[in-house]
Amino acid sequence: MDILLANPRGFCAGVKRAILIVENALKIYKKTIYVKHELVHNQYVINQLRNKGVVFVEKILDIPNNSIVVFSAHGVSKKTKEQAIKKQLIILNATCPLVSKVHKEVLQASKKNIETILIGHKGHPEVIGTIGQYDNTNGKIHLIESIKDINQLQIKKNNKKLSFFTQTTLSVKHTKSIIEALKKKFPYISGPKKEDICYATTNRQNAIIKLSKITDILFVIGSRNSSNSNRLAELGKEIGIFTKQIESFMDIKTEWIKNKKYIGITAGASAPEFLVHQVTKYLQKMGANPPKEILGIEEKINFNIPKHLKLPSY
Ligand code: SF4
Repeated sequence: MDILLANPRGFCAGVKRAILIVENALKIYKKTIYVKHELVHNQYVINQLRNKGVVFVEKILDIPNNSIVVFSAHGVSKKTKEQAIKKQLIILNATCPLVSKVHKEVLQASKKNIETILIGHKGHPEVIGTIGQYDNTNGKIHLIESIKDINQLQIKKNNKKLSFFTQTTLSVKHTKSIIEALKKKFPYISGPKKEDICYATTNRQNAIIKLSKITDILFVIGSRNSSNSNRLAELGKEIGIFTKQIESFMDIKTEWIKNKKYIGITAGASAPEFLVHQVTKYLQKMGANPPKEILGIEEKINFNIPKHLKLPSY
Protein backbone atom coordinates (compact mmCIF):
# COMPACT_ATOMS: atom_id res chain seq x y z
CA MET A 1 0.00 0.00 0.00
CA ASP A 2 1.32 3.43 -0.97
CA ILE A 3 0.13 6.65 0.65
CA LEU A 4 0.01 9.73 -1.57
CA LEU A 5 -0.55 13.13 0.01
CA ALA A 6 -2.35 15.89 -1.90
CA ASN A 7 -0.41 19.10 -2.27
CA PRO A 8 -1.49 21.62 -1.11
CA ARG A 9 -3.76 20.40 1.67
CA GLY A 10 -4.83 21.52 5.14
CA PHE A 11 -4.60 24.92 6.81
CA CYS A 12 -4.98 28.01 4.63
CA ALA A 13 -3.71 31.50 5.47
CA GLY A 14 -7.14 32.62 6.75
CA VAL A 15 -7.43 29.73 9.21
CA LYS A 16 -3.84 30.17 10.47
CA ARG A 17 -4.53 33.86 11.04
CA ALA A 18 -7.78 33.22 12.93
CA ILE A 19 -6.14 30.68 15.26
CA LEU A 20 -3.16 32.99 15.90
CA ILE A 21 -5.51 35.85 16.78
CA VAL A 22 -7.25 33.74 19.44
CA GLU A 23 -4.07 32.18 20.83
CA ASN A 24 -2.34 35.55 21.13
CA ALA A 25 -5.47 37.13 22.63
CA LEU A 26 -5.45 34.45 25.35
CA LYS A 27 -1.86 35.34 26.22
CA ILE A 28 -2.28 39.13 26.01
CA TYR A 29 -5.62 39.65 27.77
CA LYS A 30 -5.42 36.72 30.22
CA LYS A 31 -9.23 36.78 30.33
CA THR A 32 -12.00 34.62 28.90
CA ILE A 33 -12.09 34.95 25.15
CA TYR A 34 -15.52 34.48 23.58
CA VAL A 35 -15.75 33.44 19.95
CA LYS A 36 -18.89 34.02 17.92
CA HIS A 37 -19.55 30.64 16.27
CA GLU A 38 -16.79 28.04 15.72
CA LEU A 39 -13.62 29.97 14.88
CA VAL A 40 -12.98 27.57 12.00
CA HIS A 41 -14.98 24.46 11.13
CA ASN A 42 -12.82 21.73 12.65
CA GLN A 43 -13.70 19.81 15.79
CA TYR A 44 -10.09 19.10 16.76
CA VAL A 45 -9.14 22.79 16.57
CA ILE A 46 -12.26 23.84 18.48
CA ASN A 47 -11.62 21.29 21.27
CA GLN A 48 -7.99 22.41 21.58
CA LEU A 49 -9.09 26.04 22.00
CA ARG A 50 -11.90 25.07 24.38
CA ASN A 51 -9.31 23.28 26.54
CA LYS A 52 -7.39 26.56 26.70
CA GLY A 53 -10.47 28.32 28.05
CA VAL A 54 -12.05 29.75 24.89
CA VAL A 55 -15.86 29.94 25.02
CA PHE A 56 -17.79 29.51 21.78
CA VAL A 57 -21.23 31.12 21.52
CA GLU A 58 -23.80 31.39 18.76
CA LYS A 59 -25.40 34.60 20.03
CA ILE A 60 -23.71 37.86 20.97
CA LEU A 61 -26.44 38.28 23.58
CA ASP A 62 -24.94 35.29 25.48
CA ILE A 63 -21.68 37.19 26.07
CA PRO A 64 -21.37 39.32 29.24
CA ASN A 65 -21.03 43.07 28.62
CA ASN A 66 -17.48 44.47 28.26
CA SER A 67 -16.01 41.05 27.41
CA ILE A 68 -13.69 40.17 24.54
CA VAL A 69 -15.27 38.68 21.43
CA VAL A 70 -13.60 37.23 18.37
CA PHE A 71 -15.51 37.12 15.10
CA SER A 72 -14.82 33.78 13.38
CA ALA A 73 -12.99 33.38 10.05
CA HIS A 74 -16.38 33.16 8.31
CA GLY A 75 -17.23 36.78 9.15
CA VAL A 76 -20.38 38.31 10.63
CA SER A 77 -23.26 40.50 9.53
CA LYS A 78 -23.45 44.24 10.21
CA LYS A 79 -26.21 43.52 12.72
CA THR A 80 -23.97 41.17 14.73
CA LYS A 81 -21.25 43.82 14.82
CA GLU A 82 -23.77 46.41 16.02
CA GLN A 83 -24.94 44.05 18.79
CA ALA A 84 -21.33 43.60 19.93
CA ILE A 85 -20.76 47.36 20.00
CA LYS A 86 -23.97 47.87 21.96
CA LYS A 87 -22.73 45.42 24.59
CA GLN A 88 -19.43 47.31 24.67
CA LEU A 89 -17.47 44.22 23.74
CA ILE A 90 -13.83 44.43 22.70
CA ILE A 91 -13.99 43.12 19.14
CA LEU A 92 -11.13 41.10 17.65
CA ASN A 93 -11.94 40.44 14.04
CA ALA A 94 -10.64 37.09 12.75
CA THR A 95 -12.72 37.28 9.55
CA CYS A 96 -10.56 36.00 6.69
CA PRO A 97 -9.41 38.99 4.61
CA LEU A 98 -10.76 37.23 1.51
CA VAL A 99 -14.23 37.12 3.08
CA SER A 100 -13.91 40.76 4.17
CA LYS A 101 -13.17 41.64 0.53
CA VAL A 102 -16.51 40.12 -0.53
CA HIS A 103 -18.22 41.98 2.36
CA LYS A 104 -16.86 45.29 1.08
CA GLU A 105 -18.04 44.58 -2.45
CA VAL A 106 -21.55 43.62 -1.31
CA LEU A 107 -21.69 46.72 0.90
CA GLN A 108 -20.75 48.88 -2.09
CA ALA A 109 -23.49 47.27 -4.21
CA SER A 110 -25.94 47.89 -1.38
CA LYS A 111 -24.97 51.56 -1.08
CA LYS A 112 -25.58 51.97 -4.82
CA ASN A 113 -28.90 50.06 -4.52
CA ILE A 114 -27.69 47.52 -7.07
CA GLU A 115 -29.77 44.36 -6.86
CA THR A 116 -27.38 41.55 -5.98
CA ILE A 117 -27.19 37.78 -6.29
CA LEU A 118 -25.04 35.75 -3.92
CA ILE A 119 -24.11 32.19 -4.92
CA GLY A 120 -23.64 30.15 -1.75
CA HIS A 121 -25.00 27.61 0.69
CA LYS A 122 -28.07 28.60 2.67
CA GLY A 123 -27.42 28.74 6.42
CA HIS A 124 -23.61 28.73 6.17
CA PRO A 125 -22.20 31.40 8.54
CA GLU A 126 -20.17 33.01 5.76
CA VAL A 127 -23.31 33.39 3.67
CA ILE A 128 -25.26 34.82 6.62
CA GLY A 129 -22.46 37.33 7.22
CA THR A 130 -22.22 38.34 3.57
CA ILE A 131 -25.98 38.72 3.10
CA GLY A 132 -25.93 40.75 6.31
CA GLN A 133 -23.81 43.45 4.64
CA TYR A 134 -26.70 44.32 2.34
CA ASP A 135 -29.47 46.71 3.29
CA ASN A 136 -32.70 45.51 1.67
CA THR A 137 -34.56 48.83 2.16
CA ASN A 138 -33.98 50.11 -1.35
CA GLY A 139 -32.36 47.13 -3.06
CA LYS A 140 -32.40 43.39 -2.67
CA ILE A 141 -29.92 40.56 -2.22
CA HIS A 142 -30.93 37.09 -3.44
CA LEU A 143 -29.27 33.81 -2.52
CA ILE A 144 -28.98 31.03 -5.07
CA GLU A 145 -27.44 27.59 -4.57
CA SER A 146 -27.80 26.04 -8.04
CA ILE A 147 -28.71 26.70 -11.67
CA LYS A 148 -32.24 25.56 -10.83
CA ASP A 149 -32.64 28.55 -8.47
CA ILE A 150 -31.99 31.03 -11.29
CA ASN A 151 -35.44 30.39 -12.74
CA GLN A 152 -37.09 31.27 -9.41
CA LEU A 153 -35.29 34.62 -9.16
CA GLN A 154 -37.61 37.59 -9.04
CA ILE A 155 -35.52 40.44 -10.35
CA LYS A 156 -37.14 43.85 -10.56
CA LYS A 157 -38.58 44.47 -14.02
CA ASN A 158 -36.55 46.80 -16.31
CA ASN A 159 -33.63 46.44 -13.94
CA LYS A 160 -30.44 46.98 -15.90
CA LYS A 161 -28.12 46.88 -12.93
CA LEU A 162 -27.45 43.57 -11.31
CA SER A 163 -24.36 42.17 -9.63
CA PHE A 164 -23.29 38.78 -8.34
CA PHE A 165 -20.82 37.51 -5.75
CA THR A 166 -19.97 34.06 -4.44
CA GLN A 167 -19.14 32.27 -1.19
CA THR A 168 -15.38 31.63 -0.97
CA THR A 169 -15.47 27.86 -0.45
CA LEU A 170 -17.61 26.58 -3.31
CA SER A 171 -16.99 23.98 -5.98
CA VAL A 172 -15.02 25.71 -8.75
CA LYS A 173 -16.70 23.60 -11.43
CA HIS A 174 -20.30 24.02 -10.24
CA THR A 175 -19.90 27.74 -9.59
CA LYS A 176 -18.51 28.28 -13.08
CA SER A 177 -21.61 26.73 -14.61
CA ILE A 178 -23.95 28.75 -12.33
CA ILE A 179 -22.18 31.99 -13.36
CA GLU A 180 -22.41 31.04 -17.04
CA ALA A 181 -26.15 30.45 -16.66
CA LEU A 182 -26.56 33.77 -14.81
CA LYS A 183 -24.72 35.65 -17.56
CA LYS A 184 -26.87 33.98 -20.16
CA LYS A 185 -30.09 35.02 -18.44
CA PHE A 186 -28.86 38.48 -17.40
CA PRO A 187 -26.25 39.57 -19.98
CA TYR A 188 -25.80 42.93 -18.20
CA ILE A 189 -24.91 41.31 -14.83
CA SER A 190 -21.58 42.39 -13.34
CA GLY A 191 -19.41 40.54 -10.85
CA PRO A 192 -15.83 39.78 -9.91
CA LYS A 193 -13.49 38.96 -12.84
CA LYS A 194 -13.01 35.52 -11.37
CA GLU A 195 -15.60 34.20 -8.91
CA ASP A 196 -14.82 34.94 -5.22
CA ILE A 197 -13.76 31.33 -4.54
CA CYS A 198 -10.49 31.67 -2.65
CA TYR A 199 -7.03 30.48 -3.69
CA ALA A 200 -7.00 27.77 -0.96
CA THR A 201 -10.30 26.22 -2.06
CA THR A 202 -9.21 26.27 -5.72
CA ASN A 203 -5.75 24.82 -5.05
CA ARG A 204 -7.08 22.00 -2.84
CA GLN A 205 -9.68 21.03 -5.46
CA ASN A 206 -7.03 21.05 -8.24
CA ALA A 207 -4.74 18.88 -6.10
CA ILE A 208 -7.50 16.26 -5.81
CA ILE A 209 -8.02 16.21 -9.57
CA LYS A 210 -4.30 15.46 -9.92
CA LEU A 211 -4.29 12.87 -7.11
CA SER A 212 -7.37 11.11 -8.45
CA LYS A 213 -5.44 10.00 -11.55
CA ILE A 214 -3.23 7.78 -9.39
CA THR A 215 -5.19 6.65 -6.31
CA ASP A 216 -7.94 4.08 -5.76
CA ILE A 217 -9.24 5.54 -2.51
CA LEU A 218 -9.31 9.09 -1.20
CA PHE A 219 -9.52 10.20 2.42
CA VAL A 220 -10.65 13.78 2.97
CA ILE A 221 -9.80 14.88 6.50
CA GLY A 222 -12.29 17.52 7.57
CA SER A 223 -15.33 18.13 9.73
CA ARG A 224 -18.89 17.64 8.45
CA ASN A 225 -19.66 21.35 8.72
CA SER A 226 -16.54 22.39 6.83
CA SER A 227 -17.74 23.69 3.47
CA ASN A 228 -14.42 23.35 1.70
CA SER A 229 -13.87 19.81 3.06
CA ASN A 230 -17.36 18.81 1.89
CA ARG A 231 -16.57 20.17 -1.57
CA LEU A 232 -13.34 18.11 -1.67
CA ALA A 233 -15.23 14.92 -0.78
CA GLU A 234 -17.92 15.78 -3.34
CA LEU A 235 -15.27 16.28 -6.02
CA GLY A 236 -13.57 12.97 -5.23
CA LYS A 237 -16.91 11.16 -5.62
CA GLU A 238 -17.76 13.04 -8.83
CA ILE A 239 -14.43 12.02 -10.34
CA GLY A 240 -15.28 8.44 -9.44
CA ILE A 241 -12.75 7.60 -6.71
CA PHE A 242 -13.94 5.75 -3.62
CA THR A 243 -13.95 8.74 -1.23
CA LYS A 244 -14.43 8.92 2.54
CA GLN A 245 -14.59 12.11 4.58
CA ILE A 246 -13.15 11.54 8.05
CA GLU A 247 -12.62 13.60 11.21
CA SER A 248 -9.59 11.51 12.21
CA PHE A 249 -7.90 8.11 11.78
CA MET A 250 -10.48 6.67 14.21
CA ASP A 251 -13.16 6.84 11.51
CA ILE A 252 -11.24 4.55 9.13
CA LYS A 253 -12.76 1.10 8.57
CA THR A 254 -10.32 -1.66 7.64
CA GLU A 255 -12.57 -2.96 4.85
CA TRP A 256 -12.17 0.41 3.06
CA ILE A 257 -8.44 -0.13 2.54
CA LYS A 258 -8.54 -3.86 1.85
CA ASN A 259 -6.87 -4.68 -1.51
CA LYS A 260 -6.16 -0.99 -2.17
CA LYS A 261 -2.77 -0.17 -3.69
CA TYR A 262 -2.73 3.64 -3.69
CA ILE A 263 -4.33 5.64 -0.87
CA GLY A 264 -4.76 9.36 -1.45
CA ILE A 265 -5.08 11.76 1.46
CA THR A 266 -6.10 15.39 1.55
CA ALA A 267 -7.29 17.76 4.27
CA GLY A 268 -9.69 20.69 4.19
CA ALA A 269 -8.47 24.23 4.80
CA SER A 270 -9.45 24.05 8.48
CA ALA A 271 -7.91 20.61 9.23
CA PRO A 272 -4.48 20.63 10.93
CA GLU A 273 -1.53 18.66 9.56
CA PHE A 274 -1.40 16.75 12.86
CA LEU A 275 -4.57 14.87 11.81
CA VAL A 276 -2.94 13.95 8.48
CA HIS A 277 0.09 12.68 10.38
CA GLN A 278 -2.11 10.52 12.63
CA VAL A 279 -3.84 9.00 9.57
CA THR A 280 -0.56 8.16 7.83
CA LYS A 281 0.86 6.62 11.04
CA TYR A 282 -2.27 4.48 11.37
CA LEU A 283 -2.08 3.34 7.73
CA GLN A 284 1.59 2.50 8.15
CA LYS A 285 0.65 0.32 11.12
CA MET A 286 -1.78 -1.39 8.75
CA GLY A 287 1.12 -2.15 6.39
CA ALA A 288 1.40 0.94 4.18
CA ASN A 289 4.73 2.37 3.00
CA PRO A 290 5.84 5.81 4.30
CA PRO A 291 3.79 8.62 2.68
CA LYS A 292 4.90 10.48 -0.42
CA GLU A 293 3.74 13.98 -1.33
CA ILE A 294 2.66 14.67 -4.89
CA LEU A 295 4.02 17.79 -6.60
CA GLY A 296 1.78 20.84 -6.32
CA ILE A 297 1.54 24.59 -6.01
CA GLU A 298 3.54 26.18 -3.22
CA GLU A 299 1.25 28.55 -1.32
CA LYS A 300 3.06 31.67 -0.18
CA ILE A 301 0.04 33.67 0.98
CA ASN A 302 0.22 34.90 4.55
CA PHE A 303 -2.23 37.24 6.28
CA ASN A 304 -1.05 39.61 8.99
CA ILE A 305 -2.80 39.82 12.33
CA PRO A 306 -3.64 43.24 13.89
CA LYS A 307 -0.54 44.96 15.35
CA HIS A 308 -1.90 45.02 18.89
CA LEU A 309 -2.24 41.22 18.84
CA LYS A 310 1.35 40.56 17.80
CA LEU A 311 3.64 39.09 20.42
CA PRO A 312 7.31 40.09 20.60
CA SER A 313 9.58 37.51 18.95
CA TYR A 314 12.78 36.78 20.85
FE1 SF4 B 1 -9.98 32.44 3.79
FE2 SF4 B 1 -10.27 30.64 1.84
FE3 SF4 B 1 -9.22 29.93 4.14
FE4 SF4 B 1 -11.82 30.52 3.99
S1 SF4 B 1 -10.77 28.80 3.00
S2 SF4 B 1 -10.39 31.15 5.59
S3 SF4 B 1 -11.75 32.19 2.48
S4 SF4 B 1 -8.33 31.43 2.69
